[in-house]
Amino acid sequence: MDAGLDTILKARLAALSEAKRLRRLRPWHWQNGALHDVDGRALIDASSNDYLGLSQHPLVKARAAEWAQRHGAGAPASRLVTGTRDITLAVEQKLAAFKRCEAALLFSSGFQANATVIPALATVMRSGIPGVGAGETAIFSDELNHASIVHGCRVARAKTQVFRHKDLDQLDHLLQQNTGRKLILTESVFSMDGDRADLPALVQLAERHGATLYVDEAHATGVLGPQGRGLAAECGGGVDVVMGTLGKAFGAFGAYVAGSRALIDWLVNCCPGFIYTTALPPAVLGAVDAALDLVPDMDQERARLAQNSQRLRDVLSLRNYDTLGSSTQIIPAVIGSEEDALAAAQRLEDAGVLAVAIRPPTVPEGTSRLRFALGSALDEAAMQHLLLTVATHLPPRPSKPG
Ligand SMILES: *Cc1c(COP(=O)(O)O)cnc(C)c1O
Repeated sequence: MDAGLDTILKARLAALSEAKRLRRLRPWHWQNGALHDVDGRALIDASSNDYLGLSQHPLVKARAAEWAQRHGAGAPASRLVTGTRDITLAVEQKLAAFKRCEAALLFSSGFQANATVIPALATVMRSGIPGVGAGETAIFSDELNHASIVHGCRVARAKTQVFRHKDLDQLDHLLQQNTGRKLILTESVFSMDGDRADLPALVQLAERHGATLYVDEAHATGVLGPQGRGLAAECGGGVDVVMGTLGKAFGAFGAYVAGSRALIDWLVNCCPGFIYTTALPPAVLGAVDAALDLVPDMDQERARLAQNSQRLRDVLSLRNYDTLGSSTQIIPAVIGSEEDALAAAQRLEDAGVLAVAIRPPTVPEGTSRLRFALGSALDEAAMQHLLLTVATHLPPRPSKPG
């Protein structure tokens, strides 16, 4: 055993603890349709990504169990070996139809998809068009993009330029300064601020500069766009690469990339994070299959979710909290210091509401916040308790000068 390693680790952990940045895993317990803490206290969950409550939907759970019974607990191999079952391809076809794309490909997780598809794309773009030749490839990434996108950029061995959050003028300028192939990366709903990218404008910008547009729909899939198809579905095929996750509104696990047939065929052949990993297990495929049956018809749930999100924003605004342009089910309440954010989360938790504090490095310094993430499964009683708790337990912020 390397005692040296443990010594280094312990010193680093002590430093994190000293800086009050040590994170610990807290176990939760699911019982009678509610989240419970270790002391057995039920909490209103205002921080999870199960936006449509599908992880607990009877049809989703039943099909997960049924497909596990029928096809086994695990996939036996990677996709290019014997991991591609007929059910895998059927779910991918169903996903492609849902996303109105030619084809779709499943991935083990959203992190894995972003971390591996972005570098794979940068590589093939660099190889260039036959006869035209290879070229430099530059990546343009919104500063608030998810850690998995940042990771993908880091390993892509391409010049990455980070543009200010949603600043399309700056992006336009950066695109102009670059020759060669260009890849623009954005989320459609930003995971920490809950605001939306202007996808139609990004599509236009990408077209004008001959750039490829890659959109992460982790928080929009199932929730936004026509029948929950995501915001890219409103852009008439203008988004080249659509990525999304299945562990959020779909209530299951995994992720997908959707786009042209050529894109998917090429990823099957050349994307390491697809090739060298075990296929998704049947239970997960069953859950995704059931979610795909349900999601298009959940307009009522989506409307309720939007309404409830607005109600929470209204209560927060009355107390002068900045919700950072949120227009979705993700609602930040900016507090500032890490200590104050943690204290606010604790106050809510003591009153029976779980709204986690998000701190650097997940969000920029000085913008520590509570991050609410609502789900349509919160009934009216829970919603009223949540709003009342926020109104009575969060201290009002000083009003902005001017
Ligand atoms: C959650 C998330 C991911 C990662 O997806 P997982 O399937 O949980 O690994 C990627 N991108 C964004 C924007 C996310 O919020």
